[in-house]
Amino acid sequence: MSKLEFKNVSKTFNSTQALNDINFNIKESEYIVVVGPSGCGKSTFLRTIAGLEDITNGEIWFDGKRIDRLNPVERSIAMVFQSYALYPHMNVQKNITFGAERRREEKEEIVQRLNDVTQTLQLDGLLDRKPGELSGGQRQRVAIARAMIRRPGVLLLDEPLSNLDASLRANTRIELSKLHKSMNAIILHVTHDQHEAMTLADRIVIMNQGKVVQIGTPKEIYKKPANLFVAGFIGSPGMNLINGELASRHNAATIGVRPEDINISKTSNGIPASVEAIEYLGNESHIHLTIEKSTAIIMSIKSEFNLQSGDTIDIEFNAPNISCFDESGVLIA
Ligand code: ATP
Repeated sequence: MSKLEFKNVSKTFNSTQALNDINFNIKESEYIVVVGPSGCGKSTFLRTIAGLEDITNGEIWFDGKRIDRLNPVERSIAMVFQSYALYPHMNVQKNITFGAERRREEKEEIVQRLNDVTQTLQLDGLLDRKPGELSGGQRQRVAIARAMIRRPGVLLLDEPLSNLDASLRANTRIELSKLHKSMNAIILHVTHDQHEAMTLADRIVIMNQGKVVQIGTPKEIYKKPANLFVAGFIGSPGMNLINGELASRHNAATIGVRPEDINISKTSNGIPASVEAIEYLGNESHIHLTIEKSTAIIMSIKSEFNLQSGDTIDIEFNAPNISCFDESGVLIA
């Protein structure tokens, strides 16, 4: 059964359509990551679910109940902001319990929940510290603890890891994944970071210009992007997109091939390509190539090679993994 449902949800700010007819369902305990270019409506989407913005059209349902007209406190939804928004003059314990105390929840219940969340998030030794005395990762955990103490049915995370450095981000990703397994809640997580999306999500939602353009598991989205926008957006380097003509239909088409699906040909039937530049990354190398004089593509290879700029090589595509898009940019094969 779906837990959280969006039915024709739209949001307009004056002349800007921030959300345009969003329709999809989220299952119990799913981890959903929302990605898309800047300004596509990701934060607005989270804010409408939390009740911080009203929707202009449509309905939002949670657990069989329509929630889009309820106050934020009545929604069983908690949100963690990118800035964490902790109170600087309160210690960690007070930051976590303040909301529950203000809602006049039972004291004993609050203490019990405080113990639970601080153990889960390994904050028990830090309860007397003020936010200014914490590292970025610890502050982030306090913000999540404050959201979790409400025992929300849905936890909304708006770019929760973007203030952390790369190694802390990797650790916190793993912690988030463990946290999700330990709680019985839907997580909706907005990010710019594809690595985060691919590693954490049960399903990824890709937005563009206020619309949902594809929903799928990380593997589905990577292997079968629904259209040219998703093909270019997901993957780093992105899918190589090569314009051509569909022999069977005499129509313009675009072929999509991932950098790792291009190989140096072992036969004489390959496509001639000239090596423009080589980027060595340790575990792999990106070889920038030009085919048919002007089409730039990137090949990614893991093995040792003996190439340099200016070389001409023969390449081949791993045919089963090629995607084909029609002239309107929609995946057809
Ligand atoms: P980013 O990744 O840069 O944070 P986003 O995908 O979260 O962007 P939103 O912040 O949701 O995008 O904004 C979606 C659109 O709505 C943008 O065009 C933005 O300018 C507009 N918008 C957002 N909030 C308001 C507001 N309060 N008033 C008017 N327009 C707004």
